Amino acid sequence: MNRNDITIVGAGLVGALLATLLAQRGFSVSVFERRSDPRVAGYVGGRSINLALAERGLYGLRQAGMTETVMSLAVMMRGRMVHHRDGHTELLRYGRDDSEVIWSVSRGRLNTALIEAAERAGARFEFDRRLTGADFDDGVTLRFQSESGDAFAQRGPFAIGADGAGSALRVAMNETQPLGERIEPLGHGYKELEIPALADFPAATIPQAAAAALARGERFAIEPNALHIWPRGNYMCIALPNAEGSFTVTLFLPNHPGSDPATPSFATVDSPAAARALFERDFADALPLIPELEADFAANPVGILATLYLDRWHLDRRALLVGDAAHAIVPFHGQGMNCGFEDAVELADLFVATPDDSAAVFAEFERRRRPNAEAIAAMALENYVEMRDSVADPAFLLRRELARKLAERNPDRFVPRYSMVTFTRIPYAEAYARGAAQERLLRELTTGHERIGDIDLAAADAKVREQLKPLAS
Ligand SMILES: Cc1cc2nc3c(=O)[nH]c(=O)nc-3n(C[C@H](O)[C@H](O)[C@H](O)COP(=O)(O)OP(=O)(O)OC[C@H]3O[C@@H](n4cnc5c(N)ncnc54)[C@H](O)[C@@H]3O)c2cc1C
Repeated sequence: MNRNDITIVGAGLVGALLATLLAQRGFSVSVFERRSDPRVAGYVGGRSINLALAERGLYGLRQAGMTETVMSLAVMMRGRMVHHRDGHTELLRYGRDDSEVIWSVSRGRLNTALIEAAERAGARFEFDRRLTGADFDDGVTLRFQSESGDAFAQRGPFAIGADGAGSALRVAMNETQPLGERIEPLGHGYKELEIPALADFPAATIPQAAAAALARGERFAIEPNALHIWPRGNYMCIALPNAEGSFTVTLFLPNHPGSDPATPSFATVDSPAAARALFERDFADALPLIPELEADFAANPVGILATLYLDRWHLDRRALLVGDAAHAIVPFHGQGMNCGFEDAVELADLFVATPDDSAAVFAEFERRRRPNAEAIAAMALENYVEMRDSVADPAFLLRRELARKLAERNPDRFVPRYSMVTFTRIPYAEAYARGAAQERLLRELTTGHERIGDIDLAAADAKVREQLKPLAS
């Protein structure tokens, strides 16, 4: 057994990037994936057709030499385009300018590009290999099954589980030594719908403005360079652009009715007709843009949202979990993949530093990453409230405006939490702690005020200097 033999289970986003980084660094990497090869069979998604890529994820792709390939597939999103109930829209920029934006990328294309890069670097992929169990002794024997029922085994010194939120390797590890697993369901689910590219709108249903845009040669039915949000209190819709001109719309609703009968849930919005009624009432400007609403609603499943917490991510030197297999989070900060890509970079660096000691690599990886994964899990949960509710709340908007001012005036000390998470690689745990201190200050400074002009900015600067340490550059 050669310690340089690294076995990864799962060729999703994180497994494929990890395979690329390790193979590029000279390791012999084998990856076993449940699905068929997406280059032969087409990508079978299952969830979220597109994803928001931010600096942490981009950094990982840069390390793998993948930036150009991926950016050619990406659509820039400058901010949140908020669609209010009365139909008016406003763009809330994410950052200072176009150097602080996020990117919408197709999950399938990104995944395929990563698999290709890993193979070019020398990684070996075996598709149609579903992990069904693992036996741990001196090393690990992985048991796989193909779609047609054939069984295979693979033996190695250790295995890395990048097999997603429902990780089969995690199940096997847990049977050997309890990992302290807790899964906290959000109580809300999601359903994907589609705004087609203008060229694909059925002629009979194309809205007037969209027809005019099509005549001008445009591809997108609404502003392409934004993440669209329809915040409605306890629920919301979002839409992310796809490079060819369509948008993937995601409707987030509680799973069950709450105390307010006006709040919809997937238990009450349980048919295409109920979905249309909901859109007529709450998302009226989006409705004409989704010509196949009923068909999409009927065809697509309700996705489950939950946060996974583990007390342990590794089984001594024999197994480690990364990405969603270790720390699945809710998607409201758009950071699950970004966080998983940070895992991949960190783990590849640790293997380079200590190639012959998987126990040390795994322990150090968990020590460094677990506090950060816990912090982004908490921030992702908080961001759901912000997206669906606060972006329509005047007190929130005032705090946000003040945050911008303080950031402009004190760039070394005050960086909005969203910016720390999205545009920097400041560890998530630090962003979380600094964000909490900043939020306390913003609440204190805005209490009793309705307009930014009423706030004494010089006094606010003094408080910033007093309460917030400079960020390490
Ligand atoms: C609705 C939604 C929207 C999201 N939006 C964003 C976003 O905007 N930005 C962002 O950064 N993140 C986002 N995420 C999170 C992101 O999708 C995940 O964090 C990311 O996919 C994790 O990658 P992974 O490789 O760890 O797991 P996965 O992508 O789940 O990949 C796991 C792989 O393992 C394979 N596999 C599973 N079981 C087995 C088995 N038994 N044997 C062999 N192979 C197996 C699977 O087929 C798959 O290929 C979103 C998630 C959801 C649900």
